Amino acid sequence: MVCFCFLVDQERQVRRSKPAAGICSRCGGGASVADMKTATRFCHVPFYWKYWKAIICTFCGATLRTYP
Ligand SMILES: [Zn+2]
Repeated sequence: MVCFCFLVDQERQVRRSKPAAGICSRCGGGASVADMKTATRFCHVPFYWKYWKAIICTFCGATLRTYP
């Protein structure tokens, strides 16, 4: 996989988020529930999308928890 790293990359986007209870374990910032989208790209052309939910920190962007 390492030799393909310059051809295949992943782009993570937050589609929308809303405040949630809880704080970030890393920086103490506020957490939010976010609809995430991960696009896997081959030579910068997206060919696979995955939608998922996660609790993320609004301050440092850390992923605190993910949902299957
Ligand atoms: Zn944080």
